[in-house]
Amino acid sequence: MIIGKSKRDLEKMRAAGQLVGLVHRKLRRMIQPGVTTLEIDKAAEKMIRDAGAVPTFKGYNGFPYSICASVNEEVVHGFPSSRKLKDGDILSIDCGVTLNGFVGDMAVTIPVGRVQPERLELIRVAEECLELAIEQCRPGKHVGDIGWAVQQHAEAHGYTIVRDYVGHGIGRRMHEDPQIPNYGLPDTGNKIKAGYVFAVEPMLNMGVAQTKTLPDGWTVVTVDGQPSAHVEHTVAVTENGPEALTRVVEEVQQSRILA
Ligand code: MG
Ligand code: MG
Repeated sequence: MIIGKSKRDLEKMRAAGQLVGLVHRKLRRMIQPGVTTLEIDKAAEKMIRDAGAVPTFKGYNGFPYSICASVNEEVVHGFPSSRKLKDGDILSIDCGVTLNGFVGDMAVTIPVGRVQPERLELIRVAEECLELAIEQCRPGKHVGDIGWAVQQHAEAHGYTIVRDYVGHGIGRRMHEDPQIPNYGLPDTGNKIKAGYVFAVEPMLNMGVAQTKTLPDGWTVVTVDGQPSAHVEHTVAVTENGPEALTRVVEEVQQSRILA
């Protein structure tokens, strides 16, 4: 069942979204060769708790950390570790916060130091896919429109879509109905209504689409060891169109000024 959100719910989700957006902004500044993902995880947890919120991931189905840190061929759900980031890595950070009973969920993929152009291109196209997906989050559209938008753009650039993991509805719980695949056909799936909130999260691979889970039971990697990029926003569907709740508001204003 898809749970529609009231205006009051959306206000709370906006606050949770802005918080996780600001956490990401601060974490991004930490990322450079020599830093460990465990240090980034610690910083994230402190920021979240200092803001009076809870790191949603910590303890979720037994996940032990506040962020997922997925490096290079790791797709999602990577464990932060004491391994130092190095020049040329790409790091995906996924983070969720629970504030006043509602969850915000956001992921970014960030180059570490000097990174090969092919990897920067993978990240850029993943970000474009996310923007195209957000544009579909409008009343009257269908969930399949979101997946179609991601799939056609990714495949046009020669990338594959991870099918083993999907986006999701979000609210008081991190994972609500419906599932939001990054592939699909237009005008199929659930009809989208105002008040729905979705976590849309394209996952693009440079090589094959298939993934496997490492023996830690969490870390998902590409089977061919090729890099993967993952980006995510929590998006509210409003009568006026999509609102990316996790996009820090100043950035929205800047993009309006630039546009
Ligand atoms: Mg996430
Ligand atoms: Mg998510």
